[in-house]
Amino acid sequence: MNVLDSEMIVSGLLRSGMEPTHDRRDADVILFNTCSIRQHAEDKVYSALGRLKRWKSLRPHGVIGVLGCMAQKDQKTIFQRAPHVDLVLGPGQLDLLPETIHRLLDQKVQEQETRHELHVSLKRLENRHVDVAGSFRFFDLRRSIEARTNRHQALVRIMFGCDKFCTYCIVPSVRGPEQSRPPVEILEEVRYLVDQGVVEITFIGQTVNSYRHQNGERITRLSDLLYQASEIDGLRRIRFVTNYPTGMKEDLLTAVRDLPKVGKHLHVPAQSGSDTVLKRMKRNYSAAEYRELVDRIYDTIPGAAITSDFIVGFCGETDEEFQATADLVRDGRFKNSFIFKYSERPGTKSAALFHDDVPEDVKKRRNQELLEIQDAVSRAANRGFIGQEVEILVEGISKQYDSGGIQLSGRTSCDRIVVFDAEHEKSVGQFRTLKIYDTAPFTLFGKETSENSSDEPRSGAAVHE
Ligand code: SAH
Ligand code: SF4
Repeated sequence: MNVLDSEMIVSGLLRSGMEPTHDRRDADVILFNTCSIRQHAEDKVYSALGRLKRWKSLRPHGVIGVLGCMAQKDQKTIFQRAPHVDLVLGPGQLDLLPETIHRLLDQKVQEQETRHELHVSLKRLENRHVDVAGSFRFFDLRRSIEARTNRHQALVRIMFGCDKFCTYCIVPSVRGPEQSRPPVEILEEVRYLVDQGVVEITFIGQTVNSYRHQNGERITRLSDLLYQASEIDGLRRIRFVTNYPTGMKEDLLTAVRDLPKVGKHLHVPAQSGSDTVLKRMKRNYSAAEYRELVDRIYDTIPGAAITSDFIVGFCGETDEEFQATADLVRDGRFKNSFIFKYSERPGTKSAALFHDDVPEDVKKRRNQELLEIQDAVSRAANRGFIGQEVEILVEGISKQYDSGGIQLSGRTSCDRIVVFDAEHEKSVGQFRTLKIYDTAPFTLFGKETSENSSDEPRSGAAVHE
């Protein structure tokens, strides 16, 4: 979400006549697009802001802005902690950014306090749902190609916000209520991106499989959107993240199985393998139900890869509860897992109801243990690819050799990273068939074959060139 927001921000600023610079001494404006999912992310922003005091004292006309989730969460506190900040603007107000910056730049320099501009959405718990939803304004307007970090791949937001309220999570308060964008708008955005040369799009949403749009009698679900997007000529691959486990219905799994353009990869965070922890997290499923889902995915979609997220050291997590999670990581056959240490977020249910009582060293140890288990699982699965031919979409350069020549990297339909040696970067944005000769936990190493295309191992429907 933040990567996409940053692209939108850059796009809007370029259009308003600004230019990016890599040297802060040349800059008139410094912006931070922030995340508040864990404390660590916020600490980094506050310390970076602290380091900008001198920059600001040399340029009182300059603009320092804090954008995104931390702006929505901390609001005025940011001005209190860092008075040299000029602008605090939430993720639902990004459309206001260019005009606000220009207004600040045009201002005659006065007292710093009088410059403070705060633009945020309404607080969820204190206002009516409809008003809060309306106060999150979205501007998924047409992105200029210069603002994208990758010419061939693009993110497309299909929904905003989240209504799940997992007890540990700040997202529903900072990203607002769940709202699905109209399919017509989404497909128009995809066509526009494809016209610019994009071959892979990723639909994004906090719970992307809850996507549901109703227009009169007509209901569009994520599976319908996948069928509709598949029809777009020139679009070669479609992905989507993040899925909520209870919403993985038959229509979605069969769409992923049957549509050749849809990547055979599902990110479905489990968070924990213990029923009691899942209950405290308010995740609405049991460990057995999650395991049943994993089996159902592998049974329905041949060659599918599943990835997951886990939180260790959640309030009150005992050794036994943690071991249940370790068992799930051992059994889940995940391609990889993202593992996080629980970080208490003020304003969440878990901060109000439970104690963050698992000591930091225990969190660290559990984190390390899960990483090691997942590492072994990933290594073993990757070794199975040796000798196989896989088809990848080439994404870019991963290494430049001193001796000349380059290493390119790309991904299979099931989202495995493959690197290979090449003489030039002409194949970036194209599909290539590679024979795998070596592997690491997160990477396959391949060589180009003379064939044009072939089926990916264990994949029912690879995309063919
Ligand atoms: N909407 C997505 C992603 C949410 S944030 C989902 O529901 O899966 C990405 C991940 O950050 C979550 O899956 C969770 O594992 C982790 N996370 C969220 N809040 C956290 C917290 N307070 N402490 C540690 N990890 C957290
Ligand atoms: Fe946070 Fe849960 Fe919503 Fe994901 S589903 S964004 S973890 S509240």
